[in-house]
Amino acid sequence: MARRGNKHLRIGKRYEQPRPLSGAHATSAHKLGERWVVRTVPGASATKPYTCPACGRPIGVGVAHVVAWPETPAWGLERAVEGRRHWHTGCWNRLT
Ligand SMILES: [Zn+2]
Repeated sequence: MARRGNKHLRIGKRYEQPRPLSGAHATSAHKLGERWVVRTVPGASATKPYTCPACGRPIGVGVAHVVAWPETPAWGLERAVEGRRHWHTGCWNRLT
């Protein structure tokens, strides 16, 4: 009996994307009592939804926003980038 398995994995076209230089658009900011590495994420690069830690509301796909993480790793995190958070640009700018 022939099983009609769907064995074809559909592999999307690979786009050769130039890798952004690490830190190319990174700036740093001093907020909430610590220094943060900050990068802006253009709408075209926002391919996943996130929850903004400031207002607790979602950041939709395609919405330009800010990603920031403490320069100094938080307690319990081995690497600072693990503390990375995505923020609404407006929420981030309102932080002091
Ligand atoms: Zn927000």
